[in-house]
Amino acid sequence: MGEAGGHHSNPLMIQSKTLAPSTGAPALDFGSAWDYAAAPERVQVKIAARYGHFIGGKFVPPAEGKHFPTVNPATEETLSEIALGSAADVDRAVAAAKAALPRWSRLPARERAKYMFRIARRIQERARELAVLETRDGGKPIKESRDIDIPEAAQHFFYHAGWADKLQYAFPGRNARPVGVCGQIIPWNFPLLMAAWKLAPALACGNTAVLKPAETTPLTALRLAEILAEIDLPPGVVNIVTGAGETGAALVAHPGVRKIAFTGSTEVGKKIAASIAGSGKRVTLELGGKSPNIIFEDASLDQAIEGIIQGIYYNQGHVCCAGSRLFVQESVLDEVLVKLDIRLRSLRVGDPLDKNTDVGAINSADQLQKIRRYLDVGRAEGADLHESNGSPLPERGYWCRPCYFTGVQPAHTIARDEIFGPVLAVMSFRTPEEAITRANNTPYGLAAGVWTDKGSKIFEVAKRLKAGVVWCNTYNQFDPASPFGGFKESGFGREGGLHGLRAYLELS
Ligand code: NAP
Ligand code: MG
Repeated sequence: MGEAGGHHSNPLMIQSKTLAPSTGAPALDFGSAWDYAAAPERVQVKIAARYGHFIGGKFVPPAEGKHFPTVNPATEETLSEIALGSAADVDRAVAAAKAALPRWSRLPARERAKYMFRIARRIQERARELAVLETRDGGKPIKESRDIDIPEAAQHFFYHAGWADKLQYAFPGRNARPVGVCGQIIPWNFPLLMAAWKLAPALACGNTAVLKPAETTPLTALRLAEILAEIDLPPGVVNIVTGAGETGAALVAHPGVRKIAFTGSTEVGKKIAASIAGSGKRVTLELGGKSPNIIFEDASLDQAIEGIIQGIYYNQGHVCCAGSRLFVQESVLDEVLVKLDIRLRSLRVGDPLDKNTDVGAINSADQLQKIRRYLDVGRAEGADLHESNGSPLPERGYWCRPCYFTGVQPAHTIARDEIFGPVLAVMSFRTPEEAITRANNTPYGLAAGVWTDKGSKIFEVAKRLKAGVVWCNTYNQFDPASPFGGFKESGFGREGGLHGLRAYLELS
C-alpha cells in the first residue's frame, strides 16, 4: 500500500548526516540562520481582576458567588477571575433573553441591522485591543488574532447585518420568523470568532441569545459584552454566562431555550443531541474532524507545502478542520517530505505576542497532556516522529513543537483520532481511487484539501470526498457567505451563508 515508511524517513536528516561531514560544510541550522529580533506587541490591555456574567445588559455577580481563574497559557499567569455559572445564573440569563425577545423581534429589521453594523464597526475600532486579549487568554499568535480572528468576527456581523432586512429574499415566498431564545456554546480555539458565528445570524433573524464561552478563553466574549453595552444594544438581547461544562449543560437543558448551537467536541455534541431528544429544541452541531489533505504528483509542490503548513500548524492545530492527515502520491513523497522538513524548521515557536511567531502556546495544560499522550501512542504503535528542532522553548507555558509522523498505518490511533494539536500524520497512495477511499475512511467529514494542477481531477475528487468543505489548491479559507459544517460525526447543520440563516428561522 506504499506507506510513508522508515526508509523514507526524513531525507533531509539523512542528507545532513551523510553529506555535511564529507563536504566539510556546517550542518544547516534553520533555527538560528533566520533569527529575527523580538517584535512583541506592546499595547497594554486592561483586564479586570474579576468578571461577572453579562445578563440583561449589565455585569452581575454569579448567584453562588464562585469564580475560576483564566490563565495565559504562554506564561501560566492568572489573568482574571471569571464567574462560574450555575443553573440559577443560566435561568436568569434565559429569563432576560425571553423578556427582550418580543421587542427585539418586532423591531423593524433595518433597525436590528443598524445595531449589528455598530457592533461590527466597534469590533474594528477596538481590534488591536481584542487581538491582544485573544492572544493572551488563548495562546494563539498575535498575527493570527490580528489578521484572522478579529477581522473575521467583524465581517460576520457586517455580513449578517446585511441579511436582517432581506430575509424575504433569502427565502422567497416564505414567512420567516425568529425561533426564540438561542443557547449558544462555543469552544476555545476561536473564541471571539465563534461568538460572532453564533450571535450574528441569531440577531439578524430576530432571536435573542445566551452565549456560553469556553472555560479557558472567556475574555474576548466579555469584552464583546462591553461593546454591546457601549452601542446600546437593548438589554437582554445578548447574555453571556461564563463557566464550565456544567454551565453549558444547564443551558442545553433549560426549557426556555428553543435552539441550541454548539461548536466543540464530538463527545459533548453526542451528549447534547441525546439530552435534547424529544424536547422539540432545534440543534446545530459543529464537531470534530480528521481532515485529509491530498497531494497529487502533478501539484505545485511548494504551494501545496504552504497549504499543508497552514492547514495543520496554524493556531497550533487547534482547528476543527485542520488538515491532520496528509496523503501524498508515492512518486513525490520523498520530495514532499524534504520540503516539509525545511519549512517546518523555519517556523517560529514561542511568545504568541511576538509578531513573528508562527506557532504559539497550546491552549491549556490539559490539551498539552492530551497531545503528548498521542505522541507517545504514535511512537508506541510504530510510527516515526519528526519534530522541528528550532530554538529553545520558553520555560513556562504550554508548548508543543510542530511535528509529523511517517510510517503511519491507517489503523494507527494517530491516523484516526482527532488530536487537536500541531501533529500531522503523513501517508502515501498510488492512485486517485486509493486516495479518495482512504481520505473518506474516517467517522468524520468536516473538510478536505486537494492539490493538483488538473482541473478535471479537482472536480472528480472533490465531488467524491465526503466533507462539508473541500478546498482546492488552498486550505483554511473562510468567508461569512460560505456555509460551513460537517458530514457524519463532524456534526450537522451549517453556519454561514444562506444555509446558516435557516437554522435561526421558523419558515411558514
Ligand atoms: P468541548 O469540550 O466539547 O467544549 C466545547 C464547549 O462546550 C465549551 O464551552 C465547554 O465548556 C462546553 N461543554 C462541555 N461539556 C458540556 C456539556 N456536557 N454540555 C454542554 N456544554 C458543554 O470542546 P473543546 O475542548 O472546548 O474544543 C475542542 C473541540 O471542538 C474539538 O474536538 C474540535 O474539533 C471542536 N471544534 C469544532 C468546530 C467546528 O466548527 N466543527 C470548531 C471548533 C472546535 P468548557 O470550556 O467549560 O469545557
Ligand atoms: Mg485563558
